[in-house]
Amino acid sequence: MVHPDTELRFVSPVIGFGVFATKRIPCGTITWALDTLDQRFSSGEIATLPPYARAQLEKYAYVDGRGDHVLCWDHARFFNHSCSANCLSLGYDFELAVRDIAAGEELTDDYGALNPTTPFDCRCGDKACRRQVLPDDSTRLAALWNARARAAFFLIRTVPQPLWEVLWERAAVEAALDDAERLRPNHHHFRSAPADHAWSRTSVSQA
Ligand SMILES: [Zn+2]
Repeated sequence: MVHPDTELRFVSPVIGFGVFATKRIPCGTITWALDTLDQRFSSGEIATLPPYARAQLEKYAYVDGRGDHVLCWDHARFFNHSCSANCLSLGYDFELAVRDIAAGEELTDDYGALNPTTPFDCRCGDKACRRQVLPDDSTRLAALWNARARAAFFLIRTVPQPLWEVLWERAAVEAALDDAERLRPNHHHFRSAPADHAWSRTSVSQA
């Protein structure tokens, strides 16, 4: 479930829709949490789906640490990628604002942290744009993502949290807030890189 102070807006014909803040969302706010209405599909279940349904999952679902595709029921499935994402996660099923997000600003994820199965060219426009998002981005960027999310995590109790009741890991979060040693890092989400390296940086044309 996405933070209530957001809405779906059309971005452009190339990008399509995106998720935008309707009010300021301060750093440390839980911006999305996996909830009971989201749907999870194993690879075996996906194999039984008709092609049109598989195509929709490829477009709108993310892949979790178990390799399942998770399809969000609300406008969370329209989060766009940025190479300087303002929402990141640790090793829990929710995302945090890793900096203040202004009213009217788009909320963004780093798709590299969502186990992409194929590379894609990036047009996010950020000055730190990587030009491509790759299936093994997490091997290079996990520590950076973790550091940014960790700083925001310890602000959780200092800002309003309308999604708190949605979190199924509240006890684990409370424990980590009380004892930083118990904080679960983001690598719990990452799949190991596929054996087939056909997607490697050297074999994919640069944007
Ligand atoms: Zn980019």
